[in-house]
Amino acid sequence: MDKTYRQILKWGDKHEQAITPMMIEVLKEKLGVTDTDFETKYLSGQQEIKLEKKSALKQEQLDFIKNIVGEENILTDDFSRANFSYGKFYAELLKLRLNEIPNPPDIVVSPKNDDNIIKLVAYCNSHNIPIIPIGGQSSVTGALQTPNGGIALDLTKHLNKVLKINELNKSVTVQAGIYGPAFEEELNKKGYTCGHFPQSFEFSTVGGWLAAKGAGQASTGYGKIDDMVLSIKAITPAGIIETKEFPKTAQGWDIFPLFIGSEGTLGIITEVTMKVHNFMPENTSFASFIFKSFEDATTAMRTIIQSECGLPHLFRISDPSESDIAFKTKGFDNTFQDKFLKMFGYLPGKRCLMFVAVEGQKEYTKLVVKNCKKIAKKYGAMSIGQGPVKKWLEQRYSSAYLREPLMDAGIMTDTLETSVTWENMLKVWDSAHKYVSLRPKTVLMIHISHVYENGANLYFTFLSPMKKGEEKDDFIHFHKGLIETIIENGGSLSHHHGVGRVLAPWMEKQLGKTSIQAMQALKNHFDPNNIMNSGGTLGLK
Ligand SMILES: Cc1cc2nc3c(=O)[nH]c(=O)nc-3n(C[C@H](O)[C@H](O)[C@H](O)COP(=O)(O)OP(=O)(O)OC[C@H]3O[C@@H](n4cnc5c(N)ncnc54)[C@H](O)[C@@H]3O)c2cc1C
Repeated sequence: MDKTYRQILKWGDKHEQAITPMMIEVLKEKLGVTDTDFETKYLSGQQEIKLEKKSALKQEQLDFIKNIVGEENILTDDFSRANFSYGKFYAELLKLRLNEIPNPPDIVVSPKNDDNIIKLVAYCNSHNIPIIPIGGQSSVTGALQTPNGGIALDLTKHLNKVLKINELNKSVTVQAGIYGPAFEEELNKKGYTCGHFPQSFEFSTVGGWLAAKGAGQASTGYGKIDDMVLSIKAITPAGIIETKEFPKTAQGWDIFPLFIGSEGTLGIITEVTMKVHNFMPENTSFASFIFKSFEDATTAMRTIIQSECGLPHLFRISDPSESDIAFKTKGFDNTFQDKFLKMFGYLPGKRCLMFVAVEGQKEYTKLVVKNCKKIAKKYGAMSIGQGPVKKWLEQRYSSAYLREPLMDAGIMTDTLETSVTWENMLKVWDSAHKYVSLRPKTVLMIHISHVYENGANLYFTFLSPMKKGEEKDDFIHFHKGLIETIIENGGSLSHHHGVGRVLAPWMEKQLGKTSIQAMQALKNHFDPNNIMNSGGTLGLK
């Protein structure tokens, strides 16, 4: 059937992904699911979309919008409005499976240029029509929901060009609605890379990277998106912000960083000028290690990053739970190599994988890997070659497709991530495992990625059988407990997914009243009638 909920909930190119037989065995062992769970699709979302809520726009409003962007750039049918109702947060995917879309946008509009956006914003501001800027729709924080209806402003259809590569300044100016691969291809042609590779890279946009304040897999070397941006153009109800590309300034505080992490609440980012990096994939050096414990691995990682011996670009540790599952699902358990590792004290339930990839000049990448090896060895690591990290990189984007077959099998699965200082790292890691162990048949895998001198990002993936009939409440309750465990033990609300509506309830407690009031004052300045992504994103009114 055409135009179903399933078409919307599926990730990326929408292909149906199968779970490997080895992974099925692991899921049966750990979660208690059975073969029957994999034979049918639970809450499959195969029904045709039908929206109860009609568009609230009046005919004259519709005509005005049509006049600005052209009839071919508006969509008002049920499927299109449904398609722009949610991002990819687990609870949103669950709602799609349950055919629940209570608050779709009234219309989907694809502006052709900045001038269209200026006119739309002015009109919506004077008619109190909400606008939600939309990129690749890969948000996992409820930031794209439209509780007050309004315009879903799709920036990907037209605002998707590289405008200028400035070889003297080593920077690029690009329109915000460009997807990762198209952007990277243009840069590669000139010998550059953007350096920002989130797992959602293929289906997310430059504007979304900025607005959600994201991080890519090579962020330890290239930095987070906030380290890459040099200037922006944004259209707000209060006017246009167009900052200039300077290396650094002392002209009072900078305005453009306010838009990094703004999640569509201040205005629409239409252009971004970013640093670029030299593209030399042939020089990348790789290393993989196995450690006897998570404590040893984190100490080695901290020592490497603090020793100023060069920066790995990709730098990750999988904790014992994640490492064990990786070994099991790759068929490594009980092989000759596995027996060898066990003989030398690298035991299941304790051992941890570390992956390193360094980019840049050949001599540099070799030197950094050599330095990492020296330090890793000091903390008891065995070097296991380049293969494991290369294999991890190969499946990096495709693993995003696993969520649908898992949900089809009635498995609840979601991710959370947090920024933690080294002094709190083990505390947050341990308390999260303790919290999850209270729920039977539940697996928590944690990895460290995005590493800094004073701390790193901890990333949590959990899997548990859905409580059938109570899927939503059960998830909300469990998820809330995990968030609270993380923040009570010293973690931030987010390191790179952003806040959206999902984490908004914790913002005031986490940041303090005065900080939230300052954010609200800025919002009130740029968006006095609260039309920009209104309805709770970032905890703003
Ligand atoms: C499978 C998967 C893997 C992921 N992996 C990562 C990862 O590795 N690293 C990471 O950082 N994130 C990751 N994410 C989260 C998500 O991909 C990022 O937040 C991404 O930056 C969002 O970009 P987008 O273009 O999809 O934006 P959208 O989801 O469309 O929008 C996100 C937010 O930005 C706002 N916005 C979008 N464009 C603009 C604009 N031009 N102007 C103003 N506001 C705008 C929206 O209103 C919304 O609040 C992942 C998500 C999924 C589903």
